[in-house]
Amino acid sequence: MRATGRELWRDRYPDQVTCVRCLELQDQIELDRLLWCEACRAKARRRASRWGGGIGVVLAGALACWIFVVVNPTRMIGGWVATVVAALWIGSRIGGEVAYGVERYRNRRAVEAEPPNPF
Ligand SMILES: [Zn+2]
Repeated sequence: MRATGRELWRDRYPDQVTCVRCLELQDQIELDRLLWCEACRAKARRRASRWGGGIGVVLAGALACWIFVVVNPTRMIGGWVATVVAALWIGSRIGGEVAYGVERYRNRRAVEAEPPNPF
């Protein structure tokens, strides 16, 4: 930065950077290396966990169908139910991580930005 002797207003905010997701000016410490701010990471996390929940339900449903049709258990029903519940939990965790990873990888710009309101 140029030193002109006269302090510019910007010189007092050298650590502010625009978040690529919401296009709002944020302190640099709020942003990670993809220039996502804290709030945008949290939003992406929430969206990813919704996706993960859906993936977990689909996986657990498929497993339940497979157990019902192929294994057709008559004993230890509780154990099979626990297996399906575990698949639901693990599937939603992994699905959430994958969905978040995809969103990070695609790194789409300005998806959290709101259009400027002229009024
Ligand atoms: Zn942001």
